[in-house]
Amino acid sequence: MRRRPGAGAFVIIARHVRADLHFHSNASDGVLAPEDVVARAAANGAQLIALTDHDDVRGLAQAREAAVAARVRLIDAVEISVTWESTTVHVVGLAIDPKTRELVDGLAAIREGRDRRARRIAEALEAIGIRGALDGACRHAESSSIIGRNHFARFLVEAGAGKDVRTAFESYLGRGRPGYVAHTWASLPEAIGWIAAAGGMAVLAHPGRYRIGAAQRDRLFAQFRDLGGRGVEVVSGAHAGEQVAEHARCCRRFGLLASCGSDFHSPSESVVDVGTVAPLPEGLRPVWSELA
Ligand code: AMP
Ligand code: MN
Ligand code: MN
Ligand code: MN
Repeated sequence: MRRRPGAGAFVIIARHVRADLHFHSNASDGVLAPEDVVARAAANGAQLIALTDHDDVRGLAQAREAAVAARVRLIDAVEISVTWESTTVHVVGLAIDPKTRELVDGLAAIREGRDRRARRIAEALEAIGIRGALDGACRHAESSSIIGRNHFARFLVEAGAGKDVRTAFESYLGRGRPGYVAHTWASLPEAIGWIAAAGGMAVLAHPGRYRIGAAQRDRLFAQFRDLGGRGVEVVSGAHAGEQVAEHARCCRRFGLLASCGSDFHSPSESVVDVGTVAPLPEGLRPVWSELA
């Protein structure tokens, strides 16, 4: 990431910028179209936003048009699925050039793996008597969208197998449940490398969500930083109150920049609405101080 200090950067360095740098559209596993989720963020008062669909950048062009119309600053971004020490972690790339060949090819390879996994998830559900899950999940996705577990969860709710998406994960799709299929995503060096090639800034997404202990977490932070990772989501819709303070400490300790995002997917499923993220804790340097 090239640094461009100057008046523009100075204006947006303030902690109280209303920023939401992590949310989804129906180009991945969100339910709103890119233009609708951007309009919603703007209507909710956001000033600086990033659409971070899983493993795909195809929603960004529509999001850009909506952001211009709503006069909100949009950063081109993506959320990349990574396998690190047998754990799935997510890395957000902010301020990427979405046309960069290395990134485009890397994401295409992840999506191929995703499609194979989707077929295996459907087979696993079939084995416990739940039929038609692949078609069902696809019905809940846009035709060009990736297929993710949220699409299966929405199908399972519709089929009466759970009262809501969260329950569907607890009963079927979460780790150790009958519809869970282990999968190897990109490596951490690959994901950070593609983001760097695209001129972007790598940010570790929602670290509080990973089921790892403190020693492993510290190793993740150290490796992430040593590979060129620059920021971490301190405030996230996926973080409980205590986890914000914990990751603010990690952010300082590892010399990272702080990011914030709702991880919004849907008005009826998400706890934090898009564009309504709490401010960063005091004393952290926000990622936007280096995104001129
Ligand atoms: P995938 O990348 O297809 O494995 O799906 C991961 C997505 O599933 C995450 O980005 C969340 O949107 C969602 N997710 C994961 N775990 C849960 C859970 N326990 N409850 C609800 N949604 C979840
Ligand atoms: Mn998701
Ligand atoms: Mn994520
Ligand atoms: Mn996300």
